[in-house]
Amino acid sequence: MFIGNHLSSADGYEIMGKEALKLGGNTFAFFTRNPRGGAVKAHDPEDAARLCRLMEEHHFGKLVAHAPYTLNVCSDKEKIRKFSREAMAEDLRRMEYLPGNYYNFHPGSHVGQGTDAAIPIIAEAINYAVKPEYTTTILLETMAGKGSEVGKSFEELRAIIDLVEYPDRVGVCFDTCHVWDGGYDIVGNLDGVLKTFDDIIGLDRLKAVHFNDSMNVCGSHKDRHQKIGEGEIGAEALKAVAKHPLLKDKPFILETPNDDEGYIKEIEMVRSW
Ligand code: FE
Ligand code: FE
Ligand code: ZN
Repeated sequence: MFIGNHLSSADGYEIMGKEALKLGGNTFAFFTRNPRGGAVKAHDPEDAARLCRLMEEHHFGKLVAHAPYTLNVCSDKEKIRKFSREAMAEDLRRMEYLPGNYYNFHPGSHVGQGTDAAIPIIAEAINYAVKPEYTTTILLETMAGKGSEVGKSFEELRAIIDLVEYPDRVGVCFDTCHVWDGGYDIVGNLDGVLKTFDDIIGLDRLKAVHFNDSMNVCGSHKDRHQKIGEGEIGAEALKAVAKHPLLKDKPFILETPNDDEGYIKEIEMVRSW
């Protein structure tokens, strides 16, 4: 299986690949910028090439880069929309130095405009940032639905995809905590949830998994991650996700509250399943 966690990109690309190996991983996620701010970190194409070589050598799965949390392409403020579109476009240009991987982002928060108004704005931003020749697949993350988040249901994600110009450049990242908090019972009926996903979006679009337990109950719309097996989803249900024939070959990214030692243990535990 392909599993890893979020690593810091502050010191460059290759160092993250080495760090992933140290933690027992064979994929990882990283923020393309400071996750809470907008500043761009140093970007060195040669360093990117070194990471590509390391990944090939160690048979890594696809990387799942993450756009910063500050992006909101469907903000009610034009200034934020514009910044977010531009940041996404710039991130995707850089991602081509790590060809063929994933770029995951939160569809955004509509901040009172309403989901129906936000959906075409999100699609427009994707159309602005994606070029047909790109090798990166953009992933819309399934959201917990806290505040005015768009993407809390499979229908909302599908509606965005329906409006994008290059739909084969777009997939979905299935966040177990968010899907659960969003009201999909992956504990009681994982097959049913995946069937619903397939009916509405299509499982061929499910490209990666954010692998988290949740501090809250199904449908809580809270978005508080918990360590694997220590939350309301629990080890047994998460084990079923990790071993599911439709999911087991995807990159699994842990976004659990852990330090390095915790991640080493968690990665080892999930691999042992
Ligand atoms: Fe996320
Ligand atoms: Fe996530
Ligand atoms: Zn989350």
